[in-house]
Amino acid sequence: MTMSFSEFTQQDYEVIAREYADLKEVAMKRCANQEEMDVVQKAFEFANEAHKGVRRRSGEPYILHPIAVAKIVVTNIGLGYKSIAAALLHDVVEDTDYTVDDIRNLFGDRIALLVDGLTKIKVVLDNDAKAGNRSIQAENFKRILLTLNDDVRVVLIKLADRLHNCRTIEFMPEYKRDKILSETMFIFIPLAHRLGLYEVKSEMEDIWLRYKEPEAFNDITAKINRNVNDKEKEIDDFIAPIGKALEAASFNFEIRKRVKTPYSIWHKMVTKGITFEQIYDLYAVRIIFTPAPGTTETERDQCYHVFSIITDIYRYKPDRVRDWVKHPKNNGYEALHCTLMSRSGIWIEVQIRTKRMDDIAEKGIAAHWAYKKDGFAGENESEMDKWISKVKEILVNPDVNALELLDIIHNDLNTQDIFVFTPKGEQKRIQKGATALDFAYSIHTHIGNTAIAAKVNMRLVPLSYVLKGGDQVEIITAETEKPKREWLQFLQTRKARSIVMDYLKSERNDSVRTGRSMLENSLNASGIKVTDKILHRIMSRYGISEDNQDELYFRIGVGIIGTDDIAGSLDRQETARSKSWMSWFRPKAKKEEPAVGESTGPEHRYVTATCCNPIPGDSVVGFRGPDGTVTVHKKSCPVANDEAAKHGDRIVVPEWEESNRASFLVRLSIKGVDRIGIINEITRYISFVMSVNIRGINISTEGGVFEGSIDLYVHDKNDLDKLIRKLGKIEGIQNVVRTDL
Ligand code: MN
Repeated sequence: MTMSFSEFTQQDYEVIAREYADLKEVAMKRCANQEEMDVVQKAFEFANEAHKGVRRRSGEPYILHPIAVAKIVVTNIGLGYKSIAAALLHDVVEDTDYTVDDIRNLFGDRIALLVDGLTKIKVVLDNDAKAGNRSIQAENFKRILLTLNDDVRVVLIKLADRLHNCRTIEFMPEYKRDKILSETMFIFIPLAHRLGLYEVKSEMEDIWLRYKEPEAFNDITAKINRNVNDKEKEIDDFIAPIGKALEAASFNFEIRKRVKTPYSIWHKMVTKGITFEQIYDLYAVRIIFTPAPGTTETERDQCYHVFSIITDIYRYKPDRVRDWVKHPKNNGYEALHCTLMSRSGIWIEVQIRTKRMDDIAEKGIAAHWAYKKDGFAGENESEMDKWISKVKEILVNPDVNALELLDIIHNDLNTQDIFVFTPKGEQKRIQKGATALDFAYSIHTHIGNTAIAAKVNMRLVPLSYVLKGGDQVEIITAETEKPKREWLQFLQTRKARSIVMDYLKSERNDSVRTGRSMLENSLNASGIKVTDKILHRIMSRYGISEDNQDELYFRIGVGIIGTDDIAGSLDRQETARSKSWMSWFRPKAKKEEPAVGESTGPEHRYVTATCCNPIPGDSVVGFRGPDGTVTVHKKSCPVANDEAAKHGDRIVVPEWEESNRASFLVRLSIKGVDRIGIINEITRYISFVMSVNIRGINISTEGGVFEGSIDLYVHDKNDLDKLIRKLGKIEGIQNVVRTDL
């Protein structure tokens, strides 16, 4: 942050005093005793002195920023005195001459650790984050998450800091505004969401929308205001009878009206393609009650008691009852939701929560801990802790790169869980979209590894079956089975995928070893010395980068690349010296060999002509050159025709060697109707089903039609004809023909 320095005026000192007094008031409620308040006071005095005379871009004294951050830390997040102190001190190390050691000497280890973590994040974000660069932002995201390992509070205070920077973003120059906002959307909002900080998240989202989509923001805000004015009385009329009934049942409660935020309205409009008027859940009514002291009813029972009372008054939509008490969302959210029909005929969502649930829903993780400490925890209190340990677990795995990590976090946010049953009726939680095989792995690694099929609701289904809530799932295993590569195409859960990948990796190492010796034996047998140069040439032909020799060995080891195919990858000139290459051809019949000038006997040197690239099965004709090398053409080749006309005496009629397994390059030209996934299907078909190696693809699409060519290696004309026939049957393909290279 660029700052300026100028003596504070009397007015500045007054503003500082007033803002700090506000903070003190809220902090006092949170602090357990005077000693804790003394730490807050000391932190304020220290920071105030350190930032003395310094101003923000807005012109206001700099210290107002740490004070505001500390206020968010206590009111919106609910953290205690150490975090409040750390928030007050968070810019001291970065912006003044004081060091973390100074902080440690004055405030102790924990506060120093928090300030140190905050300083590090700040340096990371300032130095190399470029707005819009996904991988750098992902890297930063990872670094920020790494501080979770030290203390989650670092991230929470950072979120408060970011929220205040968003609030004051109008003073930023435009380029910086963009950077801050996109970083906020990319990193901080998902984090706030994941940590259950609803208030922080929604405010950031609204600020993002106000600057990124000002027109939409203004339009939606105006419509909300108009709508609220119009509907205010309707909502009050809806609430009144509920209040009366709850009073009569002696509940200790409050009822709040909630209007959807501009951002969530905008997001719904955009993602669902609907208009403002089509948003039916614009309003929600929240009933928050404090459980009666000494009651034996569980919180959930009491929520249902409230539900029973209000549904005596209003009709409810049976398919919209959501019990997040029994199964909290993965960010810890708990409440009982239902949608009721008001007397004026509008659907209104009602959220029933206890005070504890409401605190957690608004403030998130810190509130959750506070209740946990006080022994108030709900049934599923550990969801958030589980998530944090999961993140930590992912972070310590060096194989996970930042982008993957980001996907994991984002997916984890968006996926909801469903519940399925074991054959014994035991309930299991699994993410939505998970397959029977995911379920198998969630039970036990061994069950997953040896799975062959599943029975869902007594019916036999494949392992790729996508589970539905309420399914009863039984996994059928066979001890001889093992994980298969294809499984990765449908497995959904991270755990199952990583088990299978680990397995394939260890299996891969075996294949690499096998492939290596296969290649060496094959090349040695051909009299070719295995040099780096040769290896690189082979690798470049299969599109494998030079530093990845294992990949080549692996592909050979599992049979994706045949050792004979390697032949085709080596330059023909070079390999022509090797006898084995020449076994592609043998003379058809001795008598047809011209006698004159013949000196080499049956061991002619043959090369295929590059003009027509004949492959085994093509009818061919050869021409003996001056040095005795026979160039073989397709009979239909115009060059061959020309040659035959001019030098009839040089004609040789070779025959393809039947046992040869070498590969030949051909080009197919393909034409068809463009549909999603067709290119994938074609290449998958060629490489997996036919086990044919593709050398290059060149396909372009225009106006719903695609056209292009694929260069690939085949053994002979039989292979090729079969491939052409099969490709022709793929839906959407209209034409497949072999063409000149
Ligand atoms: Mn700051």
